[in-house]
Amino acid sequence: GQPVLAVVGRPNVGKSTLVNRILGRREAVVQDVPGVTRDRVAYDAYWGGRKFTLVDTGGWEPDATGLQASVAAQAELAMQTADAVLLVIDASVGATATDEAVSKVLRRSKKPVLLAANKVDDDRLLADTASLWSLGLGEPHPVSALHGRSSGDLLDAILEAL
Ligand code: GDP
Ligand code: MG
Repeated sequence: GQPVLAVVGRPNVGKSTLVNRILGRREAVVQDVPGVTRDRVAYDAYWGGRKFTLVDTGGWEPDATGLQASVAAQAELAMQTADAVLLVIDASVGATATDEAVSKVLRRSKKPVLLAANKVDDDRLLADTASLWSLGLGEPHPVSALHGRSSGDLLDAILEAL
């Protein structure tokens, strides 16, 4: 079948907004309330003449086991079921302890992992995104899912990885 990219990240970092940006249409549910995308939802995506499956996840809400454990479980699931994983970080917040914990999980992956630094709406946050190299997931790709900034560059990197 076609390659699968799973989009993971803390609630409210803009995963669903980025999925919509990649799809070029509004399908993934975006809300100001953290944790609105409860289930994993798969979409057909197209870029550069190629077709792939995009999985939007929202399963990182704190549950009985706590946020860190939920994060680890979601990352493990993505690593097992997808061909590549895209971790989304909120660059306006920077890397949190949870982001660092999930990065640690994802660094064990034998599959490609990409890092998107979202909410870089203007140049002010660009310099800060360099610090995200410390997550050990390679080059941080600064994007603004809301405004479409640099999402083409991210997609080119995704296709190289898939
Ligand atoms: P998810 O929980 O990770 O799926 O996050 P959502 O896609 O639902 O977005 C959460 C909030 O962040 C919404 O209010 C979005 O409009 C906002 N958001 C998403 N992407 C961006 C961005 O690039 N810039 C800014 N400023 N806000 C964004
Ligand atoms: Mg969502």
